[in-house]
Amino acid sequence: MTATTPLLSASHVSKHFGHNLVLDDVSLDVARGETVVLIGPSGAGKSTLLRTLNMLETIDSGSITLDGELMGFEEVGGRLLHRSKKDVTRQRARLGMVFQQFNLFPHMTALENVAHAPVHVRGMKTKAARAAATALLERVGLADRAGHYPSELSGGQQQRVAIARALAIQPEVLLFDEPTSALDPELVEDVLHVMRELSEQGQTMIIVTHEMGFARDVADRVVFMTEGAVREVGTPEQIFRDSENVRLRAFLSSVG
Ligand code: ADP
Ligand code: MG
Repeated sequence: MTATTPLLSASHVSKHFGHNLVLDDVSLDVARGETVVLIGPSGAGKSTLLRTLNMLETIDSGSITLDGELMGFEEVGGRLLHRSKKDVTRQRARLGMVFQQFNLFPHMTALENVAHAPVHVRGMKTKAARAAATALLERVGLADRAGHYPSELSGGQQQRVAIARALAIQPEVLLFDEPTSALDPELVEDVLHVMRELSEQGQTMIIVTHEMGFARDVADRVVFMTEGAVREVGTPEQIFRDSENVRLRAFLSSVG
């Protein structure tokens, strides 16, 4: 791949749920190291777009490539065939996802949560995985919480464990779906701080968020969606300051 090839590329992706067109010809390229923030009103299709990138949802048409490799399908003798389950699992592990509701394993400690996928998906030795998990917990500021269960942690701490867990498989792209929406206001900043550091360290990220201050500071590009379609893409200045897009202005004033 050349330096200009996007790391992740969605091309003309459309998807229905029943008769409801949820993604309408969405195209989006994300460069290696880029932080892209996805904004838009509820129901715009932001979560669905993230889930299609991660192959948690199928698509009706279009294609998704990661570093030039077609996701979910392969071309065999000029025909497009579904990839094997094993191959999809391998591809899916190239992306990490952080959800609004943390989704930690409740019966595992923070350390066990983080070490789980490296052992069970990547086949890493337990000892090495625990050492790597310890380093990741340190990176998200939770070295002293390694032995705690999720129920013993605040929402912000749980979300930082979830970020460490997503990082543990060394994903090429990290996807965040409203990672701070379920948190008490005073816990939001700790999580945003970790995300800001990851962005500065060059982690490729796509983040759905309503934290407009964060988007303004951290995004390389902001993507505005409504009704399943990308309406506007630009730098934070272009989106927050310069755009005269009526829908975008209305959305921005609605979120404060
Ligand atoms: P957003 O994340 O921007 O709020 P979503 O991607 O969650 O938007 O939803 C986009 C549209 O798809 C909405 O109309 C929603 O009701 C619909 N939708 C989402 N998930 C499903 C599903 N599993 N089944 C049917 N409709 C869904
Ligand atoms: Mg959503």
